[in-house]
Amino acid sequence: MNALAELTPSMFDRIRHDLVGLKMPRALEALDQIVRRLERAEISALEAIDILLSEELTLRENSRIKTALRMGRLATIKTLAGFDFSFQPSLDRDRILTLAQLGFVARHEVVHFLGPPGTGKSHLATALGVEAVKAGRSVYFCTLADLLGQLARAEREGRLHERIRFFARAGLLIVDEIGYLPVVPGGGNLFFQLVAARYERGAMILTSNRGFAEWDDVFGDPVVATALLDRLLHHAVVVQIEGSSYRLRQHAELMPEHVRSKAIITPPTSTLATRRRGRPPKNDHAHPGP
Ligand code: ADP
Ligand code: MG
Repeated sequence: MNALAELTPSMFDRIRHDLVGLKMPRALEALDQIVRRLERAEISALEAIDILLSEELTLRENSRIKTALRMGRLATIKTLAGFDFSFQPSLDRDRILTLAQLGFVARHEVVHFLGPPGTGKSHLATALGVEAVKAGRSVYFCTLADLLGQLARAEREGRLHERIRFFARAGLLIVDEIGYLPVVPGGGNLFFQLVAARYERGAMILTSNRGFAEWDDVFGDPVVATALLDRLLHHAVVVQIEGSSYRLRQHAELMPEHVRSKAIITPPTSTLATRRRGRPPKNDHAHPGP
C-alpha cells in the first residue's frame, strides 16, 4: 500500500519523541491531525512533511518577530496596511511602498519624514520598522529625547562608548520627534557621535516637524547642526508630508458640536476637511469659508 501502512505505533512514538528532542512543539501538536489527514488520503506523504515543518517554522518566525518588535520598541499596530493614504494626498504611496521593500536599509541610507504634527510620520516610521523586523533586520525605535537621555546617562556613568556601540548595532535605527523638545546642552554633540558611528554603516529613519534650516535652533548649535546634516543628508531620502492632522480629524469627530465649533484644537483647514467628509455645515457663521 502506501508509506502509511508502515507507520506503526512504535514509529509514531519515536516521531513524537524526536519532535520533543528537536524542540518542535508546534509540529508535535500538529502531528496527530496531519497523520489523520494522511490516513484519509487527503494529503500525500510529502505534503505531510511539508505541513509539519511549515507549522513549526511559522511558530518560530512569529515568536522571533514578536521578540524583535519588543526589543526594538516597535508597536505592531502601526502597519502600512493600516495607513490611510487617501487621507494624506501629498504623500506618494508608491514611494512609501518602495521604501517598504527595504532597499534603503541594505544601502545604509537615511529616510527623513518631515511634516506637521499628526500627519503620520511616526506611524510610517514604525510601519517601515515592522517591515524590516519581518525581513529579519534588527531595528530599534526611540525618540530623540529618549536617545539623548540614554546617551547622557551613559556618559555620566563612563560607558558612553558602549552605549553608542549599542545604538550603532541596529541595522535600522529610528529616531522619532526631532524638533519637538529643545535638545539639552551637549545633546547635539552626543547625537553627532552616534550619527558619525552609524554613517554609511547602518540605515536610519528620522522624523521631524521642523525643516532642516531650523536645525541650528533645534540643536542650539550651528556647527553641530551643520555637521549632523552633512552626514544625514548625504545618502538620504526626504519625504515631506503636507497635510492636516489625522489626530485632530479623529478628535473633531469625537468632540461635541459646541466644542468643535469653537475650533479650540482644530485649525480651520482640518475643520473644513472634516465637514467635507460628511457633516452638514451647521456653523458656517462661526467659520466663514474662503
Ligand atoms: P506624527 O508622528 O506625524 O505626529 P502620527 O504618526 O503619530 O503623527 O499619527 C497620529 C495618529 O494618527 C497615530 O495614531 C497614527 O496611527 C494615526 N494616523 C496618522 N495618519 C494616518 C493615516 N493616514 N492613516 C491612518 N492612521 C493615521
Ligand atoms: Mg510622531
